[in-house]
Amino acid sequence: MTDCLFCKMVAGEIQPDVVYENEQVLAFRDLNPQAPTHVLVIPKKHIATLNDLQGEDTALAGALFHAAKEVARIDNIAERGYRTVVNCNAEAGQTVFHLHLHVLGGRPMGWPPG
Ligand code: AMP
Ligand code: ZN
Repeated sequence: MTDCLFCKMVAGEIQPDVVYENEQVLAFRDLNPQAPTHVLVIPKKHIATLNDLQGEDTALAGALFHAAKEVARIDNIAERGYRTVVNCNAEAGQTVFHLHLHVLGGRPMGWPPG
């Protein structure tokens, strides 16, 4: 997708603050962090929303969670705890339409989320 912010990061046209990367996924720090650790994990393949995840993408979805775990280890929040969030479409507050997993931690998290 030429007009997608996160695809531009995958293509190297925009350089985010990368925390972790492998063949399938890229993880980088959120520009507007909501917690001491706030990292976005994205598939390198363009998938607009969670609704667009196909059966063939299940391994990729697993790779997102595996990367989230690695991010927590890298930022040293794995043991104390952290949260992963996927916002899907308008009511959840999705603003960038390239699937991403938020990894939030480094402070206590409230429940239920807003
Ligand atoms: P969502 O609201 O779930 O779609 O999350 C999109 C996230 O992308 C927000 O937390 C933004 O702060 C973040 N974001 C937007 N632009 C950038 C950027 N250029 N680099 C890093 N994070 C960004
Ligand atoms: Zn994209």
